[in-house]
This record gives sequence, C-alpha cells and structure tokens, in this order.
Amino acid sequence: MHAMILKGPGERLAWQECPDPAPGAGEVRVRISACGVCRTDLHVRDGELPHIHYPIIPGHEIVGRVEALGEGVTALAPGQRVGIPWLGHTCGHCLYCRMGRENLCDAPLFTGYTRNGGFATSTVADARFVFPLGESGQDAALAPLLCAGLIGWRSLVMAGNAERLGLYGFGAAAHIVAQVARHQGRKVFAFTSPGDRRSQEFARGLGAVWAGGSDTLPPEKLDAAILYAPVGRLVPMALKAVRKGGRVVCAGIHMSDIPSFPYDLLWEERELVSVANLTRADGETFLALAPQFGIQTRITTYALKDANRALDDLKAGAFDGAAVLVP
Ligand SMILES: [Zn+2]
Ligand SMILES: [Zn+2]
Repeated sequence: MHAMILKGPGERLAWQECPDPAPGAGEVRVRISACGVCRTDLHVRDGELPHIHYPIIPGHEIVGRVEALGEGVTALAPGQRVGIPWLGHTCGHCLYCRMGRENLCDAPLFTGYTRNGGFATSTVADARFVFPLGESGQDAALAPLLCAGLIGWRSLVMAGNAERLGLYGFGAAAHIVAQVARHQGRKVFAFTSPGDRRSQEFARGLGAVWAGGSDTLPPEKLDAAILYAPVGRLVPMALKAVRKGGRVVCAGIHMSDIPSFPYDLLWEERELVSVANLTRADGETFLALAPQFGIQTRITTYALKDANRALDDLKAGAFDGAAVLVP
C-alpha cells in the first residue's frame, strides 16, 4: 500500500510505500477509494493535539471497500462499501462506555490520530466501528459525511430545537449542517471571517437567510449557535448573539484561548457547551437520515500524493466545502 505519513509535529506528510496491513482479530482491511480532509488533520499535522505517536497516517473520513476480514468478523463481507469515522475503538467498560457516552471513553482510539487513518490506499479498522454505506452516492461525495457530517449532526442535536441557528465558520461541517437545518425548517445565520464574501455567498446559496462577518451581530437574536471555527474569541461573540436561555455549542477539537468576557454575556441562563467525538449511535442515526436530508456535499478532490497541498488549501480557506483525497 501507499500512504502519506506524518513523522513528526509540524512536518510535511511524506509519500511512502509500506506492506499491506494485516487485519487482526475483529478487524477488517479496507481498500480506500476516498478520504476527506478535516480541520483535525490540520491540527494533527501542526502538532496541536496531545499524545500523538509518530509516525502516524492521518485521515478519518474514509470510504472504501472491505478487502480482508480478520478472525471472528461476521457482520461485514468482502467487497462491501463502508465508511470509517473518527471513533476507531472504545474500551466498552469504563464509566462513559457503560453510560452510553462512548464518545467520552477513557481509553479510545481515534482514526488518523491514535491509530492509522485514511491518507493511504488501505487501512485496517475495528469492524465494530465501521459503518456499512450501501451503494447510493459517490465515494468522494460521501467521505465528508464521515466527520464533518457526523460531528456536525451531533453538534446540531446538541443545539436543541433552535429555530434561529448561527453557524460560526462556514467550512465542511457547516455546509452540511446548513442543508440539514434548512431541511428541518430552521433559519440559518452564517458567520465567516470578516470580508469573506465568497464564503458568505456560498452560505446564502445553501439556504442561509443571513451571512456576514463573525465580528458583527445578526439581524435578530439567535436561539443557538454552533462554533466550527477554532477561534476562542468567537465564544463571547456568539454568546452576545444568542437570546436569553440560548446555547452556544463549541464543536471543534481544538480552539485558541477564549478571552475573558463579562459575566453579563452568560447571565440569563445562556449555556456554553462543547461537543466531543461521536458515538456509533450518532453515526447510525445520521447516515440513515442523510439521504432524506438531500445533502449535496461540495468537494474539491486531490490526489493522495497532494495531501499536503489539500491541507495547505484548507488552512488558507482556498475552497468552499470539503477537500477529499482520492487515491
Ligand atoms: Zn474530523
Ligand atoms: Zn470506555
């Protein structure tokens, strides 16, 4: 197999040929046909997340076909199309696993972070954490659903039944969530970097009733806001934009420091929460509903060898929607 491997924090990914990984008991090997590029991959490459053991292959929005089964795997079959998400393994017996919050497991493995991921032609995954994808939809178009879609969905659920919903940072996740929210009859308010008219236009094209800079307030108070941009100073801005009793959901794995702000912004039962990872139930629910939401992902595809360029373009905001590597 071939892979784009990260050998140390802040380094460029390196193209490398390696032996095909053998699936262990309970695992499957998947031949990868597409892998989305997520902001978390950028945080991994830039060494912004703790506990990375190098070398590591990033990538956790994987679509491919089962190629080999490890011992004891009966739920999946060779040739079956599957998706591999961020949550790669949980312990099954810690407090969080027992209470149905496996997204918070004490001993998890995350695809493309603490176990090898999808910036490669093949990968091995714990079969219990792999989602069958069926045959409708194109591989590359489906890839962003595996994280931007799933985490987006979890954050949308966390936002409650907000009718007026703010989305801060209009990238891969927001462009999917905006479509779901619109399908649900909500009003979407999109916040981009100040002056980023292209992204604002993109948001309006996906049904946002208003789009503007994150330094401005929306024309009406929001019921909830979700932050996808990893920018801590947006937290007080979002709290300012929500009504009394409103909720602000931080959906990123990493964020710059949140500046201090007056208690008035939180007062009157406004809530500030974060969303971490996903559960398999999130994935099953979202992937079952996705076809009826009519989600059209906007993707820019790159060859696997161009993974560094895809990450650079993501960092620079060079494209709308999501980047997808196609080996
Ligand atoms: Zn991700
Ligand atoms: Zn656990």
